[in-house]
Amino acid sequence: MLVLGIESTAHTFGVAIIDDNLNILSDIRRVYSPKRTLGIDPKEAAEHHSQIAAYAVKEALEKANITYRDLSAVAYAMGPGMGPCLRIGATIARFISEYFRVPLYPVHHGLGHVELTSQMLGLEDPLILLISGGHTSILGFSEGRWRVYGETLDITLGNLLDMFAREAGIPFPGGPKIEELASKGSRLIEMPYTIKGNNMVYSGLLTYAISILNKYPLEDICYSLQETAFSILVEATERALVQLNKREIGITGGVASNTYLFNMVRKMADEHNVHVARLESKYNADNAVQIAIVGLLYKKTGHPPVGAEKAIVKQRYRIEEVEIPWRQ
Ligand code: AMP
Ligand code: MG
Repeated sequence: MLVLGIESTAHTFGVAIIDDNLNILSDIRRVYSPKRTLGIDPKEAAEHHSQIAAYAVKEALEKANITYRDLSAVAYAMGPGMGPCLRIGATIARFISEYFRVPLYPVHHGLGHVELTSQMLGLEDPLILLISGGHTSILGFSEGRWRVYGETLDITLGNLLDMFAREAGIPFPGGPKIEELASKGSRLIEMPYTIKGNNMVYSGLLTYAISILNKYPLEDICYSLQETAFSILVEATERALVQLNKREIGITGGVASNTYLFNMVRKMADEHNVHVARLESKYNADNAVQIAIVGLLYKKTGHPPVGAEKAIVKQRYRIEEVEIPWRQ
């Protein structure tokens, strides 16, 4: 069984082909980088995707050494994401499905991060931290769906880092540079620490960090920003962990590449004898393997594919809306 996945929710246009043993036959990624340091411009990103899309599909097939006729399914990221970007991926997927008579599966992008991490790391019933530019959620599987046990009430952790970076003159994406600068900081500046119930609030922290930009060394601000933002997340995670009694934690999404955060979560989890894991950085960033893997799970469980007319995109799309037929 061979499944082709297409990712196009934001900056990355990806095409991947996997088989039913989760072997990755190809994993093509074309990443748009903003011309200015202003973050992603959806129209500019969609223009980038539309220019390279056909070549990326061709390259994925050639690399896997197969043709369209060998495909068992095609999956695309339905959302959440930027409308103009999503439509490029959906259009290509519809065309492949209709023209070559291949079953079509729309996929929730966040679910892709969650299942790629769980399946590749062999996690059975994990608590998942999905932390990226688009999500900051604490998830656990219960009664047929991935449920949210804590999330940001305003901006995501990725947005917090990228928006602060922009004000500090650090190009997009800001996360890796902030991590590097933070490692050279040592002074903890007190910053707004807001947690409501089990949910995080980051906008006050962002405003404050920006307001002190010229008052302290940038390294110390980055160190304090990370320490504060990550502590809020770890506090909420610990509560969810105890409440749900999970034995493993999977961390995924672009911000999962942050090793300082990974170690903070691990330190907390060690106290509960809970195992913490993440994939290598390459698979925490947006990619099409995560979309293909969900397509494969749908196909394997006999989930009905959609006709091209129902293959829509959803800019806002919550993970609890998705029924999961392959988990008990
Ligand atoms: P995604 O939305 O999954 O593509 O993830 C992109 C986000 O991950 C951006 O907000 C980046 O700033 C962030 N990111 C990438 N690497 C790191 C890192 N080492 N530390 C913190 N954030 C990171
Ligand atoms: Mg993502």
